[in-house]
Amino acid sequence: MPRLMWEQVFRMTAETHSAAEIPGRLNLVREEIRLACEGADRPIGSVELVAVSKTMPAAAVEDAIEAGQRVFGENRVQEALGKWPALKELHPDIELHLIGPLQTNKARDAVSLFDAIQTVDRPKLARVLAEEMERAGKRPRCFVQVNTGEEPQKAGVGPEDVAAFVSVCKETFNLPVVGLMCIPPLDEEPAMHFALLAKLAAELKLPELSMGMSADFETAIAFGATYVRIGTAIFGERVLLE
Ligand SMILES: *Cc1c(COP(=O)(O)O)cnc(C)c1O
Repeated sequence: MPRLMWEQVFRMTAETHSAAEIPGRLNLVREEIRLACEGADRPIGSVELVAVSKTMPAAAVEDAIEAGQRVFGENRVQEALGKWPALKELHPDIELHLIGPLQTNKARDAVSLFDAIQTVDRPKLARVLAEEMERAGKRPRCFVQVNTGEEPQKAGVGPEDVAAFVSVCKETFNLPVVGLMCIPPLDEEPAMHFALLAKLAAELKLPELSMGMSADFETAIAFGATYVRIGTAIFGERVLLE
């Protein structure tokens, strides 16, 4: 989307959102994460909250930063480039995750801006990421996205191909793969998808599991999520749908 349109989206979003609500919502989400950890008999520090700030203006992000949030997720490289370099300069301890599809022609920007890339899902992308990491001397941690529902329109590697693909990423391209990520189908119980992702990661001895969004993060934590990606519950409804 051209920059002008993004500015319009940011303005609309800012108008419909009271920034004052963000710290309160953030604290509520943190408390819910704490309770879910307790319920699952997991240490509170075992789950990292990724605040998904896609379509949100920099002012909303700053409110979350002020409230202590340091890990953020964006789904579009282009949008993130407009918003994050300045914020990262002000707050060098911020960790930025790419959680949306990555085209190979944006791999260079993605490697330079992001600290983690959660959507590695095909050999060509793995190869280009490896080249760009080599060039930049910077190695954002990688997650392999798994299409647990085997939905034809959705990105991600099929569950039966994960082992081979992870091996290509690690052995052939020497990518720093730390875990798996999934987005369950909208119309299905997420639990079985979280269980499948956890099983695949355990088989491959990958420590990190990125799963769970605003509607289902408690379930994801019960199934072992180490990263939950939460947008709406923190920033409110998005004006622009993805
Ligand atoms: C938008 C998005 C989220 C956050 O979704 P919410 O329902 O707003 O919490 C999480 N993961 C991905 C990949 C997304 O695109």
